[in-house]
Amino acid sequence: MPKRDLKYIFVVGGVMSGVGKGITSASIGKILQARGFSVAALKIDPYVNVDAGTMNPTEHGEVFVLDDGMECDQDMGNYERFLDRDLTRANYMTTGSIYLEVIRRERNLEYGGKSVSVVPYIPLEVIARINRAARLAAADVVLVEVGGTVGEYENILFLEAIRILRLKRPKDVLVALVSSIPALGAGGTELKTKPTQHAVRNLNGVGLQPDLIFGRAPVPLDAKRKEKLSLMCGVAEEDVISAPNVESIYDVPLNFEKEKLSDRVIAKLGLRSRRHDLKEWRALSRVVHSARKEVRIGVVGKYFDSGDFMLADSYISVLEALKHAAHSWKRKPVIEWINSEEFERDPHALKSLLSYDGIVIPGGFGSRGVEGKIAAIRYCRERRIPYFGLCYGMQLAVIEFSRHVAGLRRANTTEIDQKTPHPVIDIMPEQKKNLAAKDYGATMRLGAYPASLREGTIAFNAYREPLISERHRHRYEVNPDYIKKLGEHGMVFSGFSPDRRLMEIVELPRNKHPFFLGTQFHPELKSRPLRPHPLFKAFVGAAIKRKK
Ligand code: GLN
Repeated sequence: MPKRDLKYIFVVGGVMSGVGKGITSASIGKILQARGFSVAALKIDPYVNVDAGTMNPTEHGEVFVLDDGMECDQDMGNYERFLDRDLTRANYMTTGSIYLEVIRRERNLEYGGKSVSVVPYIPLEVIARINRAARLAAADVVLVEVGGTVGEYENILFLEAIRILRLKRPKDVLVALVSSIPALGAGGTELKTKPTQHAVRNLNGVGLQPDLIFGRAPVPLDAKRKEKLSLMCGVAEEDVISAPNVESIYDVPLNFEKEKLSDRVIAKLGLRSRRHDLKEWRALSRVVHSARKEVRIGVVGKYFDSGDFMLADSYISVLEALKHAAHSWKRKPVIEWINSEEFERDPHALKSLLSYDGIVIPGGFGSRGVEGKIAAIRYCRERRIPYFGLCYGMQLAVIEFSRHVAGLRRANTTEIDQKTPHPVIDIMPEQKKNLAAKDYGATMRLGAYPASLREGTIAFNAYREPLISERHRHRYEVNPDYIKKLGEHGMVFSGFSPDRRLMEIVELPRNKHPFFLGTQFHPELKSRPLRPHPLFKAFVGAAIKRKK
C-alpha cells in the first residue's frame, strides 16, 4: 500500500493539446519537492499503443527511454529533468497497456467469473497503478498527468478514475486544469477566457470540479481575467495561476512560486508546510538569463515536413542536454537545425558547417539523408570541427572512418545496404530473430547497460570513472569483426560492454582532432539541468575552445 496520507494531484488539459501540461506538472512537482515533499510523477497516455516505442517521433515527439527499458512519452523526460529522479515503467501507462493487463487477468480467471465491465475495472486498474508507483517512490504526493484534452472521448476512463478516487478520499485529491487562454486583438494581448469556461463545464459534466486553473497564455493573466475565471469556473481567485510563455522552461517553477502556488497546494491538501529551497534552481535561472557569450551548435538531421515545432519535440532531450551543458559553461546556446539532404544535392553547402563551434548528429533510422550526414561527419573530421554523434550519429561516424580512413570504400550499415562488402555496422544475432518474428514492440536493445571506459581517453576524462551506465535504443551495433582493423587505423574504442563484445563509445585521439566522439547509447536521456551530462559538457567545452 502507498502511504496512508498520500496526496494525489491530477493534471488535465483544457481547450487543446500542446498547452504544456507536462511542463506544468513537472513544475508543480519541482516546487513541492523544493518544499521537502517526496514526489512521484506519472503520465497516462490515451493511446492504444502499449508503449511509445511504436509511435513515430515526428508525429508524437521523442521516444524517451528509461533505465528499465520502458519506451515512453517525452514528458517523462521533463519529469526526470525537473525532479532529478530516475523513473521506472511504473510511472507510465497507456490505454493499451491497461487493457492488456485487464484482459490478461480476465483470461487468467482472476475476476472470479464476474462480468468484467469497463467501469469500474479499467479505472480501478488505473488507480492501482498510481498507488503502486507512489509506493515504489515512497511518495508523499503523487502527480498524475492525464494525456489528451477534457471533452474528448479517449481519456474519459481516466477522468472516471479521478472521480472514483475523489469519492473515496475527498480530502486527498486535487484536480488542476491547464487550459489555453487565447489572445486576440491587434497586439495579441486581449485574453479570452470563454474556451476555458467551456472546458470547466466539460469537466463538470464528468463529475469533476477543478481546484486550480493554470491559464496558459502568451502573457500573464491580469486581475480582471483572474476574477472572471474565478467567478465563471468556481475557483478562488488565488487558485487561478498565471502560466505565461517563457524564454526558458526552467523558469516555470519560479513563476508559479511568484503566485504562491506551493502555499496554495499545501493548504488545500492539508499538508504540513515545510521550508522552501529553490536556491540552485534560481541560480540556474540567473545563468540562463545573464549568459551573453554564445556557443553555436549545428544539429544535422533529415528534413521533416511537419515543421520546426515537431522537430524540436522529436529531439527535445538532445536540445535540453546541449542547453544544460552550455549553461554550465555560462554560455548562451544557439542551436540550429541543418538538413543533411542539402549536402547530398550540393557538396559546397558543407562549407556552412564552418560557421558552427560544434556539430551533433543525433539518433535516427533508415536511409534518407544518410549520405549527407556521412559527408558532414567527414567534413568535421577533416576540418577539425568538434563532432558528437549520438547512436546513429556514432554508427555513421564509424562508416565514414571505415570508408575514408581505413580504405573500406563501400562500408555501410546493413540497416541500409544488406549486401555491403563491409558491414561495419551490423545486426546482432539476438536482434535478427526479432526482425524475423515481425513482433517489433520493445525488441530493440533498450534501457540501461553498463560500459567500461578506457583510461586516458576523452570519454574517461569526461566521466572520471571506469564504469558507467547509459541508456540505449537501437538494433544495430559496431561489427566485432572490424574492431581490430579500425583500431589499427587510429579509431579508439574508449567504451565497451564489460564483456568487450559491444562497442559503446568511439573517438579519435586528442592529437588528431579536438573532439570527435560518438556513443552507441543516448547520453542526452540522462542530462539534467543541474547535472549536465559529462560528454555533452566536454563536447560544448571543446566547441567553446574552437571559438577562441
Ligand atoms: N538505426 C540505428 C539502429 O537501429 C540507430 C538507432 C538510433 O539512433 N536510435 O541501430
